[in-house]
Amino acid sequence: MMAKIPFPTKKVTQATGKQMLARLEEMYPNAQTALAFSNPYQLLVAVALSAQCTDARVNMTTPALFARYPDAKALAKAKLDDVESMIKSCGFYHAKARNIVAAAQAMVERHGGEVPSDRVALEALPGVGRKTASVVLAVAFEKAAFAVDTHVFRVAHRLGLTLGKTPLDVERDVTALLPREKWRHAHHWLILHGRQICKAPMPLCGICPLADICPTGLLVLKKKRTGR
Ligand code: SF4
Repeated sequence: MMAKIPFPTKKVTQATGKQMLARLEEMYPNAQTALAFSNPYQLLVAVALSAQCTDARVNMTTPALFARYPDAKALAKAKLDDVESMIKSCGFYHAKARNIVAAAQAMVERHGGEVPSDRVALEALPGVGRKTASVVLAVAFEKAAFAVDTHVFRVAHRLGLTLGKTPLDVERDVTALLPREKWRHAHHWLILHGRQICKAPMPLCGICPLADICPTGLLVLKKKRTGR
């Protein structure tokens, strides 16, 4: 079995980076979140539950949760024990229950029970960090935002789009290659590519349409050819 591949130590050129993103856009033209939701409140809760948990598992959990707590006002009054027992299968359920109930209370107190649509107000909600705020801004409000999760971080590094140490570094490097109107879509291209082809721990470079311009892909395929 091949050893873990280190990330490239040099960034690709801007032209190559743009070409990579254009190919990803072609590959995943209709990419969107796999989380089921029908309004910003539901999306915010679903994203909070999805930390360290699969979207499929979250989607199995949220219908009953949203039936019982259909909006922030209802969730703000929920008993923590009840919420915990409903979201237990998503993992980290003590912290997640505490956060979503506290966020709902903050939305009631500060925003009339609505999810705010600006970053500063979103990130001021309990348990809401930059990534969750970016997903909510991009997906629920169709604003220019690019969320960096573990897939996006890994794929962007393997492609040599960034050498960034933090998610914010990666966000800056990738968004610099795209017009603002594509930021919210690019997040989904990279996630889908990470789930389907550029997998952790081992990418499927042999079937990847970016392998001829990706520094990691070129290295992996050379190793396969030469055995070194
Ligand atoms: S060539 Fe390999 S490492 Fe590069 S994006 Fe494709 S699967 Fe990932």
